[in-house]
Amino acid sequence: MLSLFGSGIGRGIAIGQAYVLRQSDIQTPHYPIKKADIDAEIERLHNAVKNTKAKYQTLLTSLPKSAPKESGAFIEAHMLMLSDPLLIDESIKIIRSDRVNAEHALTQQSANLVKVFEQMQDAYLRAKKTDVEHVTNRLLRSLMSIVSHSLDELNDDDLKGKIVVSRDLTPAETMFVKEQKIVSFVTDLGSQISHTAIVARSLKMPAVVGLHGATKYITDDDLLVVDGMRGTVLVNPTERVLKEYKQRLSKIRQREKHLATLTRRLSKTLDGERIQLLANVETAKEISAVKKSNAAGIGLYRTEYLFMNRDKAPTEAEQFRAYKKIVSSIDGPVVIRTLDIGGDKRLDFNYPNKKSSESPLGLRAVRLCLNHVEVFKPQLRAILRASAFGKVSIMIPMISNVDEIDQVLNLIKQTKAELKAKNIDFDSRIKVGGMIEVPAAAIMADVLAKKLDFLSIGTNDLIQYTLAIDRVDDAVNYLYDPIHPAVLKLISQVIKAGERANIPVSLCGEMAGNVRYTRILLALGLRNFSMDANYVLDVKEKILATDTQQVKKLGNRVIKASTPIKAREQLEAMNAAELS
Ligand code: PEP
Ligand code: MG
Repeated sequence: MLSLFGSGIGRGIAIGQAYVLRQSDIQTPHYPIKKADIDAEIERLHNAVKNTKAKYQTLLTSLPKSAPKESGAFIEAHMLMLSDPLLIDESIKIIRSDRVNAEHALTQQSANLVKVFEQMQDAYLRAKKTDVEHVTNRLLRSLMSIVSHSLDELNDDDLKGKIVVSRDLTPAETMFVKEQKIVSFVTDLGSQISHTAIVARSLKMPAVVGLHGATKYITDDDLLVVDGMRGTVLVNPTERVLKEYKQRLSKIRQREKHLATLTRRLSKTLDGERIQLLANVETAKEISAVKKSNAAGIGLYRTEYLFMNRDKAPTEAEQFRAYKKIVSSIDGPVVIRTLDIGGDKRLDFNYPNKKSSESPLGLRAVRLCLNHVEVFKPQLRAILRASAFGKVSIMIPMISNVDEIDQVLNLIKQTKAELKAKNIDFDSRIKVGGMIEVPAAAIMADVLAKKLDFLSIGTNDLIQYTLAIDRVDDAVNYLYDPIHPAVLKLISQVIKAGERANIPVSLCGEMAGNVRYTRILLALGLRNFSMDANYVLDVKEKILATDTQQVKKLGNRVIKASTPIKAREQLEAMNAAELS
């Protein structure tokens, strides 16, 4: 038995066989061919096209019903490209004229096409570059008989009940894992607060990331035990260990049953303070979990997931349908966050400034939206239209100065006027809030609070930017510290700014759903938490056992601790204290 250690996600345990996804760094061979071999080489290319088409066809027919319509269109576009003379016939010409192997000819012609598409004025045509790359990659794999590498190339039968072992997974890929009936995944790279981890938590899927040697030490069909709580992966465990884990699994189920008894209890501290518990969602599929948790509403709807796994942005009509669906199925408030694309949240299609947006410090989130109003306005219109069907608020991510708020408010005003002129219903008093994720915004919270109806602290990013650590880089993951005094000071400052401006402040980063931090956040004065629905009852249990006055005193010791170790000791003492 081999034990591997990484960062755990989720509180469950998964047991299953490994399915190792190999990396797709394809080294294309380049060699000359004899004149007599030209026809055979062309035949190889034709065969690769035929096989690839067949694979696309299988993928198309095996798409789950719940997959977005666009996914089918995406595959069909790739199938069409396989018949495109510009790709295939031109590659054949290169085989003939340069007497080179099919892989090299194809790579060359693909590079020519990519260059042409990159220079296109039209954004839609520019985006075709990605299609060319996708299709070329598949053809190369077929030519070189390399077995599947990426999740979207496999079908349910390959993956059912399996634990995927991969170097890394993107948040977009992670969205698909449950549909493919995968029970868990483990990766060499990644951290606990990456969006891949956030999606895994929302799928209630235990996983371990940042394992380093996973793809090296694990081989296909190894039996794995993935412990999301402890961050361990056991490879080919002994019978005794397996039995122990099965017992732990039954304890986890018992605990879930116990937590379910708290569903109808009021979320209130021992001294009677009402605490609002809201849910974070990425897609409408999480609504049933939100209802099950009895959360008071949705405190963060991450709309960017609607833009993933497709070849172009959703239209206003499509966005409206998606927002309306969520808004009309939730009784309480729904906070819709405007597009927060960028960083590790990546899209398949091309868009202006894509490269910059992929840097955590680049033109992402509200910056991208304000620079590309043609993307932002349809979203604002869709949200406003959905506001006619429930209690909707708009939330702006990654604000770093007041001008950005003014610009967004102006755009909202404009959009409202346009809707009104067309007699389209919307909530004219819709609330607009901002996320405090950048230290500059936290420091200036007093000023921002005057312009906004509410604030929400995004600690995932706030911690990343305050401590200068990339949230997806496991090499610096050990420095990611939610109770770093600088972080606690900023959180406290924002809560106080909200109190002074008499507007609500919530916290929607992963910290809100981790019971280790419930008491310290209550001690800092937080009264609105928004988290993955699967953690609402755990947090409620902690709230029910907490007295806000008592933790205020204990919390001061955490804040004033001189070293991270002392702060952690104080935090543990506070969490263990039996309060009454
Ligand atoms: C955050 O940064 O804390 C947050 C809630 O937003 P996201 O995790 O989507 O960046
Ligand atoms: Mg964020």
